[in-house]
Amino acid sequence: ATPEVKHFIKSIIEADLESGKRDHVATRFPPEPNGYLHVGHAKSICLNFGIADEFGGSCKLRMDDTNPEKENDEYVQAIQRDITWLGFHWDGAVRFASDYFEQLYQYAEALIMAGKAFVDDLNAEQMREYRGSLTSPGRESPYRTRSVEENLDLFRRMRAGEFADGAKTLRLKIDMASGNVNLRDPVIYRIRRAHHHRTGDTWCIYPMYDYTHCISDAIEGITHSLCTLEFEDHRPLYDWVLDNLDIEHHPQQIEFSRLELLSTMTSKRKLNQLVTEGLVGGWDDPRMPTISGMRRRGYTPGGIRLFAQRIGISKSENVVDLSVLEGAVREDLENASPRVMAVLDPIKVTLSNFQDGVTAARSAPFHPHHPEFGERDVPISREIWIDRDDFAEVPPPKWQRLTPGGEVRLRYSYVIKCDEVIKDADGRVVELKCSIDPDTLGQNPVGRKVKGVIHWVSAGHAVEAEVRLYDRLFTEERPDAVRGEDGQYVDFTRFLNPASLRTVTGFIEACVKTAEPETRYQFERVGYFVTDRIDHVPGERVVFNRTVSLRDTWSK
Ligand code: ATP
Ligand code: MG
Ligand code: MG
Repeated sequence: ATPEVKHFIKSIIEADLESGKRDHVATRFPPEPNGYLHVGHAKSICLNFGIADEFGGSCKLRMDDTNPEKENDEYVQAIQRDITWLGFHWDGAVRFASDYFEQLYQYAEALIMAGKAFVDDLNAEQMREYRGSLTSPGRESPYRTRSVEENLDLFRRMRAGEFADGAKTLRLKIDMASGNVNLRDPVIYRIRRAHHHRTGDTWCIYPMYDYTHCISDAIEGITHSLCTLEFEDHRPLYDWVLDNLDIEHHPQQIEFSRLELLSTMTSKRKLNQLVTEGLVGGWDDPRMPTISGMRRRGYTPGGIRLFAQRIGISKSENVVDLSVLEGAVREDLENASPRVMAVLDPIKVTLSNFQDGVTAARSAPFHPHHPEFGERDVPISREIWIDRDDFAEVPPPKWQRLTPGGEVRLRYSYVIKCDEVIKDADGRVVELKCSIDPDTLGQNPVGRKVKGVIHWVSAGHAVEAEVRLYDRLFTEERPDAVRGEDGQYVDFTRFLNPASLRTVTGFIEACVKTAEPETRYQFERVGYFVTDRIDHVPGERVVFNRTVSLRDTWSK
C-alpha cells in the first residue's frame, strides 16, 4: 500500500483550520457539461472529494454551464453517473452555474452602478487589437467613458434582446496597462442567442467563465477552490471580482498541475472528435480514457482512486505513463477477482486414453488466498482446449510447456503427454493427441518431475465467448504533440493504434455463462477480464473485455 502523502494543498488547509481563518472545509468539482469526464477529471474528483472526506467537510458538484451551444443533459447525466461510480457523494443537490444567472446579472448591474463595468461596442477583432500583448500595454476602449446611466440602459437592453449577437459586451473597468492581460478590462457578458439546456431561451446574454466561477464559489460557500495551473493568471481576476462586489465570503483559489497521461489524451475536445468521427465506438469505448470507458474496460473505482493517490498533487509537471494506471488497476483487481481458466487461442487436444466416467470432476478454489470466493467444479472430458502458446513443436531452451513427447500438468488435473501432432495441409498444427497419466490426479507422477502447468478447458463443458482484446489507443506517447516537417502539428488521429482492438473467440469455464454484466475475473496466466456491461447477456451471449494483462507487456 502507498502511504497517504500530505501534499501542499492539505498543508494550506491545515494551516487555515489551525489559524482560525476557516472553521470548516468546503470544496467543489465544477465540470462543464460539454463532454464525458476523463481520467484528468478523475484526478480532480479524487482531490476535491478526498479533501472534503479527510477534513470532515463537504464537496459540491456544480455544472459550469455558461456555454449553451456545447452543453447538454446527456453530459449532465453522465457526469453524475461517473462520479457516483467512482464512489463519491456530493453535498446536497447538483448545482448549476445557470441557477445563478439572475444573481450574476444583478451583480453585474451593481458593478455598472459602482462605475466598475461598461458596455463596449468594439467587435472581437478590434478588442483583440486594443488588448495589446504580453510585452505591450493595451489601449482603453473609446466606449469606456460612457456614463453609469447609459451603461445601465444599454446593459438592460442587451438583456432585453435589442442588439445583435456580438454587437456589444459588458466589460470590467480594471487596467488596460496591467502586466496581466486577464486584467485588461475583461469581458464578463456577451450576447449569444443560443438555446440553453436548462434556461431555454430566457437569456440572450451569457456570463463568462471568470466572472461566473468566483461568484458561484462564493454563493456556495466554498472555502478552497481548487483548479488547474492554467488558471493561476486568472486568480487576480477571481479576487478582483469578489473584492469589488458586496459579497462577504471570499473563497481561496489554489492551483495544481493537470494530469497528462501518455499514449492517450486528456482533452474533452479531442475525445469528442474521436467520438463524432466514429473513430471509436462512443464515449464509453473501452479504449477511451473517459471514466465511462475505463469502467466498461473493467477498471475498478478503487484502482482509479489508487492511481490518483500515487500520482500526487503538486504544481510541477504531472506527466504519467499509462503503465502507472494499469499497475494500480491490476493491484486492485488481484485480491478482488475470482480466477477461472480461459483459452483464447485454442488448439484441440484429444486425450486418447481418457475413459468417460472414470474420473469425477475436481473442484478448485476461485482464488488461492480467498476461500470466501468459494469453489467450482473443473470437469474434464476426452476433448479439451489448450492455448496455442502452450505448445511448441521445436521448443526454445528451458521450455516447460507442451512439446512432442513431452509432459505437462493440466492445472487442477492430470499430467498429459503429447503423443502425436496433427497438421492441416498448410502445416499448421490443428490437433494434438495426448495421453493422460491416470495416477497423477492431485499427486506427482512416480519417478519424474513435471514442472510445467498450463491452463485448459474441457471442450464439452466450456462456453464459447467473444473476447475483446484491447491495447493502447495511440502508438505515440503524445499523439497531439507531434510536428511534421512543416513545423505544424500532425493530426493526432493519424496515430491511432490499428491493433487497439482485436476480437477473438475463446473458450471459458462454464460458470461464467451466467455471470452478470460487469463481473470481473482473472483468466489464469492471461489477464484480467470483465463481462461487457452492454453486450454480455447472462445465459445467452458471453462477451468479455480484456481489462489489463497480468504483466506490463506493452512494447514499442
Ligand atoms: P478539457 O480541457 O478536457 O475540456 P476542462 O478543464 O475544460 O478540461 P472542465 O469540465 O472544466 O474541463 O473540468 C472540470 C474540472 O476538472 C476543472 O476543475 C479542471 O481543472 C479539472 N481537470 C480537467 N482536466 C484535468 C486534468 N487533465 N488534470 C487535472 N484536473 C483536470
Ligand atoms: Mg473548464
Ligand atoms: Mg475545456
